[in-house]
Amino acid sequence: NVRVRFCPSPTGNPHVGLVRTALFNWAFARHHGGTFVFRIEDTDAARDSEDSYNQLLDSLRWLGFDWDEGPEVGGPHEPYRQSQRMDLYKDVAEKLLAAGKAYNCYCTTEELDARREAARAAGKPSGYDGHCRELSAEQAEAYRAEGRAAIVRFRMPDEPITFTDLVRGELTFTPDNVPDYGIVRANGAPLYTLVNPVDDALMEITHVLRGEDLLSSTPRQIALYKALIELGVAKEIPSFGHLPYVMGEGNKKLSKRDPQASLNIYRERGFLPEGLLNYLSLLGWSFSADQDVFSIQDMVAKFDIGDVNANPARFDLKKAESINADHIRMLDEQAFAAACEPWLRAPHANWSPESFDEKAWQAIAPHAQTRVTVLSDITANVDFLFLDQPVEDEASWAKAMKEGSDALLRTAREKLDSADWTSPESLKNAVLAAGEEHGLKLGKAQAPVRVAVTGRTVGLPLFESLEILGKEKTLARIDAALA
Ligand code: GLU
Repeated sequence: NVRVRFCPSPTGNPHVGLVRTALFNWAFARHHGGTFVFRIEDTDAARDSEDSYNQLLDSLRWLGFDWDEGPEVGGPHEPYRQSQRMDLYKDVAEKLLAAGKAYNCYCTTEELDARREAARAAGKPSGYDGHCRELSAEQAEAYRAEGRAAIVRFRMPDEPITFTDLVRGELTFTPDNVPDYGIVRANGAPLYTLVNPVDDALMEITHVLRGEDLLSSTPRQIALYKALIELGVAKEIPSFGHLPYVMGEGNKKLSKRDPQASLNIYRERGFLPEGLLNYLSLLGWSFSADQDVFSIQDMVAKFDIGDVNANPARFDLKKAESINADHIRMLDEQAFAAACEPWLRAPHANWSPESFDEKAWQAIAPHAQTRVTVLSDITANVDFLFLDQPVEDEASWAKAMKEGSDALLRTAREKLDSADWTSPESLKNAVLAAGEEHGLKLGKAQAPVRVAVTGRTVGLPLFESLEILGKEKTLARIDAALA
């Protein structure tokens, strides 16, 4: 039975790297009919926030993830917020100490720093040197008498640790590279190094899929796991798979603070969850050599952690947009119209909510569906319907309104006035005929009409747009352009 976990810390805003990790875990669980556990790693009171916690939940819901165990849904290993599990960690830390698998370390930061510097200067490994490993009871007592507080340090085995990474294959870490490490702070607060593997053990996680940045903690966690198994706390060491780094601009690692990394930006711009997830799935994985666009169900059916590539993946905004555009095309008409409405009715749109016209929107929506890359593009495409005056896009006016445009517009107005307004074909013929009178082909003849009516040189199919806007408004706008 496959059990995976997604266990973010609620700090800052959710970012795309986090979403990729959630996606691969979720897809892996769903592919294998396993369990997707959602756990909140909020043991760092100084950095965690409730706001960030709420955002995480909201983001996962928006993306369409469901979790089998975790906040709000509960489960057999409740609670799923580490801040509510402190007694469990304390208990395990005590067991580790009692069994000699961990020890109290009284070294001060200054002492540690000084010894690290000296080791470096001598060209020796600069990790913790094991100073407090074998303290006698008297030495420990003497340190306490000095007023020193101890951290708890885990005793790493003196042999290499080898494991088979699901993405990278066999990896070996030598003891020099993995010194004894802290698991409980001097103030008694347990650290990530302890709580993460302890919860994985208690929650019976079978596969740990996470970012490459956590690779160095894996040998420590495997060693801790072995100790937990001896103590009867854990059953089995999980398998580990480390997902490749995501590179941003300039081939630098995409950092959480990069604006490109913020999930909220994609949401605000109107990425569809399915479009964004489709794109993020390609960061380290591929569906097939000749297909980049697919549904999340198809991804789940095909997802195999063994197919994940260990090489860094490049975040490509253009590609993300193009995949999103494809998903927008794939929506059925009603779903597309509904998905855009929040943007059209949003307070930030430059028309008032009363001017939004549901009927006009329903009529224009199918024409707009092939034009937008992200849903927020919709406002510029259809604003001519809801604004009292078309936008004044200076570049468009300069481009379309040349010498002779006025004469053309006057003729077009006349012909449009007597056209059949229930037929875009008839409106087109009107403009075509006006163009002929002035020696202009349709393309040239319709440009000034389009700018007069919509404010822009490019936009949705013009004659359908005019029909939906209606005769009265169309003619009034042409008059205004001529005035
Ligand atoms: N809370 C950790 C993080 O946000 C989880 C790391 C892990 O998956 O082990 O990075």
